[in-house]
Amino acid sequence: MIHVWEDRWMPTPSTYKVISPLPHNFDDFPMVSALIDPDTKCWNADLVRRTFLPFEASTILNMPLNFSLPDDKMIWIGNKKGMFTVKSAYYIALSIAEPSLSGESSSGNSCSPLWRKMWHLNILAKVRIFAWRCCMNALPTMQNLRIRGVNTDGYCPICDQCLECTSHALFRCDIPRSVWGYWKNCPIDLVNSSWDFSSLALQILSKGSTHDLESFLITAWLLWLNRAISSTIPPKSQASSWTPPPPGYYKINVDGASSEDGRPSNIGVIIHDSNGRVMAAMCKLLQACYPIEAVEAIAIENGILLAQEIQVSKIIIELDALNIVQSINSKQLGGEFGHILHGILLSLDHFCCWKLQHLKRDCNRDAHNLAAFARSSGTSQVWIGMPPPLLQHLRYYNPP
Ligand SMILES: [Zn+2]
Repeated sequence: MIHVWEDRWMPTPSTYKVISPLPHNFDDFPMVSALIDPDTKCWNADLVRRTFLPFEASTILNMPLNFSLPDDKMIWIGNKKGMFTVKSAYYIALSIAEPSLSGESSSGNSCSPLWRKMWHLNILAKVRIFAWRCCMNALPTMQNLRIRGVNTDGYCPICDQCLECTSHALFRCDIPRSVWGYWKNCPIDLVNSSWDFSSLALQILSKGSTHDLESFLITAWLLWLNRAISSTIPPKSQASSWTPPPPGYYKINVDGASSEDGRPSNIGVIIHDSNGRVMAAMCKLLQACYPIEAVEAIAIENGILLAQEIQVSKIIIELDALNIVQSINSKQLGGEFGHILHGILLSLDHFCCWKLQHLKRDCNRDAHNLAAFARSSGTSQVWIGMPPPLLQHLRYYNPP
């Protein structure tokens, strides 16, 4: 049981405690569970808004809950995996000591030694601007484009294996890995490090020479230019279209969407049988705006609930969020949304067979359109035994 005013349960550094005053009329037993509606398994939004200061109420309502309401546990929030690492603890210590820093991605201020050096390097102005954009996470990587609302699945256009963030594009994708491998006297291990761009540059600055930093920046810039050319080559293809499940199985396609405008997140779910017939579908507007990973996880949770409702026992769940698929399949259930992933694994145990797999965003169109419909209509709906009328291009499987 977590005490509302005494325990550290809020995602708000550095106290992690509620700062709204304790109201006179509140129960003698002010536990967080009292703020959750036991029927809907959602926050009691009216009570939360009445009890807390507006900004704190919105922080609480933006914390996603797990439908199975699992036991409370301590989690490490220093990194996304929820696993304690010395590196993440170092960043937290640093952010306490120097409040201008936040999280593992360095802000502009943390790079000040780098900027002071940068003006004296023998590099082109465009390389300097490129370096600044890398440090500010302002490169138009696929992941950044997706965050800004561009219609892309966010995956690397070269290998299609991971989300394309700056680190993937410049260090971890196949080509950069082999290019950096040729740098024999590199002062740090670039290829196997999990540090971000500015941290790597700072490491080179402290362990290497000015020339090393110049080589690092120019090579990174050339790698980025090279990607623009390479990405016009089609990626290694995986499943290129949606396919119905094998006989006896049901395929559950799910998708989630969040936007930066703060409106509630939304999800779509559609279940097909092995003949490609729609067995059930739903679209749902969630209670608040959650981070996209949480929304994808909530979409899976709702897909499972819908499958239980139509009483199917062999399921294949498909979604386009590779990181969530990998986390659940490898049972890495830490982090801020670990409680949702853990609840999903527990629910999956009730099925006689289940499989969770990734598919490309383009092949997950129906689930995506259902989520978009929840947003545009502002409603939640469920269809059982019939395809939702809004899906005009349902893919019916034609047996040979
Ligand atoms: Zn790649």
